[in-house]
Amino acid sequence: MLSLFRKKPKNITLASTGQQFVAAPGETILQAALREGIRFPHSCRVGGCAACKCQLEDGKVKELTESAYVLSGDDLDNNYILACQSVPKTDVKIGLPHWDARSPSHDIRHILGQVIQHQVLTHDISAVTIRLEAPLDFTAGQYANIRLLGCDAPARSYSFANTQQSAKGLELEFYVRRVDGGALSPLLTSQQVLGEAVEIEGPLGDFWLRPDDTPILAIAGGSGLAPLISLLRQGIVDGCQRPVTLLFGARQQRDLYAMEEIQRLSEQWQAPFEFVPVLSHEAEESSWSGYRGLVTEAIEGRIGGDTQVYLCGPAPMIDAAIAECQKFSVRPSQIFFDKFLDSRDLAATQSAGRKMPAFA
Ligand SMILES: Cc1cc2nc3c(=O)[nH]c(=O)nc-3n(C[C@H](O)[C@H](O)[C@H](O)COP(=O)(O)OP(=O)(O)OC[C@H]3O[C@@H](n4cnc5c(N)ncnc54)[C@H](O)[C@@H]3O)c2cc1C
Repeated sequence: MLSLFRKKPKNITLASTGQQFVAAPGETILQAALREGIRFPHSCRVGGCAACKCQLEDGKVKELTESAYVLSGDDLDNNYILACQSVPKTDVKIGLPHWDARSPSHDIRHILGQVIQHQVLTHDISAVTIRLEAPLDFTAGQYANIRLLGCDAPARSYSFANTQQSAKGLELEFYVRRVDGGALSPLLTSQQVLGEAVEIEGPLGDFWLRPDDTPILAIAGGSGLAPLISLLRQGIVDGCQRPVTLLFGARQQRDLYAMEEIQRLSEQWQAPFEFVPVLSHEAEESSWSGYRGLVTEAIEGRIGGDTQVYLCGPAPMIDAAIAECQKFSVRPSQIFFDKFLDSRDLAATQSAGRKMPAFA
């Protein structure tokens, strides 16, 4: 009797509009919404991007994976869940207070392309340029899944860093960091990738420059510069007049890249632009006269309660930066981030999800 009860469809109500739809047994909130033609924010659909985060206002769900890796502590405290990873256990009421109706809603496409340029930027980061066989609409800050055809490596996510329309087609530049032992990044960061055929799936993600007139604090770690450069470049095109501080956390001088590109951005930006590279592991005796320490230590003095914050890079850096920004009274709704999760994080997410009790 109990199992029969559990297998009944569950009603889902959207708090903002009162719209109601039904989830079949085992269906996630996102699957049910999309099947019923309800407009619902989403992107990767596998618990990696948080575009579908929503607030559980009433009822209970079973989470398929651990959402703590992609959501912030504040989100978790406020009952946020990922719609793509949450199966209703009871009728539920869902809020979407974070959803901005202006969020990008480009069609997600699969397009073939070819690697036409490969440039070594640092000892472990390369710029990889792919020319697509068909046009692709996206918003600066978004990412794509890249699959290298003709090899077994799985597709991985990479943020658009730069884009250019040539006579031969749309050219997309990505900054890829080699992860030792990784399936795809060692191939993409090798010169031998030049000329190889790829498939792009995208655009994905909900990281984009929100129109406002407040100061911008952008913080990148490692290869996390890519989407920030992309959205700042878009800001120049759009005539953005907001003061910008860009903090870039790296280990040593040899890890710094895209410096000329950032210099150009700062010259073209139509308001004050401060760039602060921060090195965490530079030798004491080196010639470096810039900022040393953790990138989060450089936040103090560069932030106010009205600052809008954009974070991109490894998950621990983002979690630490969010905590730091909140010390300076920045509202959680003004902090946007893209966590560069890899399969280690996702493996941890999934094993934690299996052990987790259902979210109540
Ligand atoms: C939204 C998003 C945007 C991103 N943008 C960028 C970007 O612009 N640039 C960039 O460089 N990266 C980016 N990333 C990260 C990128 O998608 C890849 O995760 C990264 O390149 C590593 O991929 P890989 O296939 O080389 O390594 P993986 O095969 O994922 O392996 C990563 C590491 O984990 C280890 N590992 C693999 N499986 C397991 C397991 N089961 N248990 C324990 N350890 C394991 C491997 O040995 C290796 O050390 C982004 C990620 C996301 C989610």
